[in-house]
Amino acid sequence: MKIIRRLLTINQFTSIVLFIIGFFLFNASYATAQDLNYLSEESQKIHRSFWACDSLIFKQLMKNTPYQTPVFLFDSQKNGSVVLIVGGTHGDEPAGCEAAHRLLSFLSNVELLQGKIFIIPEANKIAVSENKRRIPVPQDVDREKGNLNRCFPGDSEGLPMEQMAHEVTNLIRSQQVELFMDLHESKFYHLETTDDSEEFNGLGQTLIFTVNEQAAWLGMVAVDHLNSSIEPGIKRFTLVERPVKFSAAWFAGELFGIPAFTVETCRKLPLEERIYYQLEAVKIMLEDKGVIVNVASSQ
Ligand SMILES: [Zn+2]
Repeated sequence: MKIIRRLLTINQFTSIVLFIIGFFLFNASYATAQDLNYLSEESQKIHRSFWACDSLIFKQLMKNTPYQTPVFLFDSQKNGSVVLIVGGTHGDEPAGCEAAHRLLSFLSNVELLQGKIFIIPEANKIAVSENKRRIPVPQDVDREKGNLNRCFPGDSEGLPMEQMAHEVTNLIRSQQVELFMDLHESKFYHLETTDDSEEFNGLGQTLIFTVNEQAAWLGMVAVDHLNSSIEPGIKRFTLVERPVKFSAAWFAGELFGIPAFTVETCRKLPLEERIYYQLEAVKIMLEDKGVIVNVASSQ
């Protein structure tokens, strides 16, 4: 230390220390900003404030792993419908993840009439940040094991997305979820698709549901509402039966018998328009279940 003191005046020493602290602080904030580039600017702001808001985080799924992702809870503290909304199941379908972020902001400014709403905005966080449909799996393993929407009901001992599906399943069971919505996107409009081989791509602008009485009613209400502001044509929404096997909505509908939907917008539309449709689909169902006041139709 004596040598250092001889070489440096106190001012020089202080400057160096401050420079080092500043360097690390700058890099930390730069890294955070970089990490959120997969989101729109609006959702980046929402992400920064809500991910730091412990009072709204119900729990972390796959805690202390690279896949850790928060479940947010808005609770009216009154008996009523329990709803789960999931975004980011497929990482290359941004409108769903964006809409789930916007919902956090919307619901923090609305008083729930009854019930509670759980939201998982980034179900497959790594796929979302990389804009990929699925995450990689070991060689010789079916690549769909990295596709969260083909892993339900999940496996606590399985690969990461099988574990994530298992945790979402546990959430539905333990919280007695009564309405489930999984927010997705497709490459093509459903109404422009004539080729059967395009079945899973041509689902843009649809609500896909497991058939039960409540789901059929809610689906019709939502499709009518969405289409009331869309000119006749391929942009209009269609109600489609039976989500693909091993998907979240398929499983929630089949095993728990609750209304369970895959909401699909078409990626040919501008992003903000897709986010708007996703939000409207969610809001009209929350309204029909009596969880929020009539807001969807006033937008
Ligand atoms: Zn999808």
